[in-house]
Amino acid sequence: MKLLQPETKARALAMLAERPDAIPIAGGTDVLVFWPTRPAEHDRCYVDLSGLAELRGVRWTDEHLVLGALATYWEVITDARAMRELPLLGRAARQVGAIQIQARGTWAGNIANASPAADGVPVLMAYDAVVVLESVRGREEVPLADFYQGYKQMRRRPDQLVVEIRIPRRPYAVQWFEKVGSRRAQAIAKVGLAVVRGDQGWRVVAASMAPTVRRCPALERRLADATPLRSPDDLLPAIAQDVSPIDDIRSTAEYRRRVMARVLYYGLQSA
Ligand SMILES: Cc1cc2nc3c(=O)[nH]c(=O)nc-3n(C[C@H](O)[C@H](O)[C@H](O)COP(=O)(O)OP(=O)(O)OC[C@H]3O[C@@H](n4cnc5c(N)ncnc54)[C@H](O)[C@@H]3O)c2cc1C
Repeated sequence: MKLLQPETKARALAMLAERPDAIPIAGGTDVLVFWPTRPAEHDRCYVDLSGLAELRGVRWTDEHLVLGALATYWEVITDARAMRELPLLGRAARQVGAIQIQARGTWAGNIANASPAADGVPVLMAYDAVVVLESVRGREEVPLADFYQGYKQMRRRPDQLVVEIRIPRRPYAVQWFEKVGSRRAQAIAKVGLAVVRGDQGWRVVAASMAPTVRRCPALERRLADATPLRSPDDLLPAIAQDVSPIDDIRSTAEYRRRVMARVLYYGLQSA
């Protein structure tokens, strides 16, 4: 294994430009999971981001909460303003793994790992977060809702780093997040849902329901429609348009669709 340890962001970007096959490591909680079982990974070149002070921390501006690429779940959980203004971040963060993972895992790593079952991505997407990418060629901003192109496919070139995540500060009338898993900690979502309603309208974002975490435009239109919902089944046609769950070891596709309808229906009743 080759481990590169840049001391500045500029140096890290230069390394990625020279070696586009190199793999960035932030907290390492995803990257290192397969080490014991995939010896081929041991021969790769890794760029350790942990020494880059420029990528650390959680910062507030008048209009945004800005998460540096090394900002961890724990930094958000312990930021009282984030818990108050954008509470879904804290609710999702508390559901990630257990405290050890929350202390080490980063929001940027959650985005770049591109798991369809991620817990951080749905709440960021519901809040219209923007991913800021940088390479030696310059900066690029991509709305998180447009970032994924297919299973583990994303609009990040190998020479780009996620350098920050920008979340607009807006008032919301409705905001909730629900993760359905087999237990309360150390569980991968069978269904994840983040829902908000603000001046921009509804945002419904589903996890573990498609090859990527994704917004659900048909459901957003259905919720904006004045026609009352009489039961969870009224949501199934829109769910069928928005998502395409699969049968896997955690659940069947049918289970996921029905649970998503129930979670959404009863969540809306109590919102
Ligand atoms: C025991 C355990 C439980 C877990 N439970 C959950 C859970 O409940 N919910 C959940 O969502 N996840 C869970 N995870 C997955 C993981 O902890 C999260 O996805 C975490 O946010 C990853 O962050 P990291 O900093 O550790 O990423 P890393 O492992 O360092 O990197 C992950 C990926 O992102 C890339 N990357 C990292 N930073 C950047 C960057 N700045 N720019 C470009 N690419 C980058 C890496 O190259 C890699 O492909 C769990 C993992 C473990 C080991």
